[in-house]
Amino acid sequence: MKSEYVKISKILKNYDLCEYCTGRLISKLVGKQSSKLVGTKYLKKFGKSSNTKCYVCKNIFENLDSMLSNIFEKSSNIDFKTFNLGLILKNSFLERDDLIKSKFKIKGIENLKFSISSEMTKKISRKTKSKRIMNDPELFIQVNFKDESSTIRTKPIFVYGRYNKKIRKIRQKRMSCKSCNDIGCHNCNFRGLENTESIEDKISNLLIKKFEGNQVKINWIGGEDQSSLVLGNGRPFFAKILNPKKRNRILRKSSNLEGISLSELRKILVQPKGSIPFKSKVSIIIDTEKPILLTHLKKLDVLENTKIHDLSKDKKKSYQTNLSDTLQKISKNLFSFRFISRWWNSYQIFYPKFGCNP
Ligand SMILES: [Zn+2]
Ligand SMILES: [Zn+2]
Repeated sequence: MKSEYVKISKILKNYDLCEYCTGRLISKLVGKQSSKLVGTKYLKKFGKSSNTKCYVCKNIFENLDSMLSNIFEKSSNIDFKTFNLGLILKNSFLERDDLIKSKFKIKGIENLKFSISSEMTKKISRKTKSKRIMNDPELFIQVNFKDESSTIRTKPIFVYGRYNKKIRKIRQKRMSCKSCNDIGCHNCNFRGLENTESIEDKISNLLIKKFEGNQVKINWIGGEDQSSLVLGNGRPFFAKILNPKKRNRILRKSSNLEGISLSELRKILVQPKGSIPFKSKVSIIIDTEKPILLTHLKKLDVLENTKIHDLSKDKKKSYQTNLSDTLQKISKNLFSFRFISRWWNSYQIFYPKFGCNP
């Protein structure tokens, strides 16, 4: 015990330290948990004042409250039960900490960053009634002591749903502004997007308003041409809402937006990874110039297992017709062609002139 005592005396004689750094650096030597209390006690014992500038942390602990009030203000209107904290600290702080540790051969104690972090965590938890977790917290707080700033971001919310499109002429995706190509200019009101309405716009606006997020990214399960309708059960999609403030809001199962309706809406924990295979029933009605005979239709059997190419946009996209293809004569000049197709989310329905039921 004597040698430990001598060591503590040497440390405190050579360096001015605050209560926190004292408590932490000598914790192992006195066989106690690192705490401000231990620091206060030993500073007093060795006749040192705690009002001097700390050699290691430059009294950083005294400034935590102003940093914290900044964080509380920023997060006051955010729903969260869990958070995590990241600290950026000048290297010189850690270097001075390491210097004392190596000089006095102090091992197995928490470092300065850890100590600041646990002090802040204690206060944030108490004030916001939340818990710090490492994995996937609802709020992430980044504190930068280099420029005394803090930033916060929240965990995204994922939503699954389906949409039906009841009127033609609404495009699925937003279109980049032709004048500035995404950058933002006077023509597009600095949005970087064309001012034409799209399904993406309608869904995004609904979700941004609901969860007070700042951006929505949609993963479409297939797509349809601007002039096609989406009937039946609707086309599935996954939406990711970035930086939502209100994650506890209730999302109604269905929603009617102008020209489109949403159904099966629900929050999901994670978005499925990779491409999502799904089946699609496609029905094409073909109007012929000359009258058609059943023998003509028979010849079309060759279409089985052939690739159908997208002629409307991207010619590289194609899909395979399935064995369940059926051809049916409707009238003298009209026949229908139905098939089930297995789609992946990058595929498109490419018969703009015909309504398709995904
Ligand atoms: Zn200190
Ligand atoms: Zn523009």
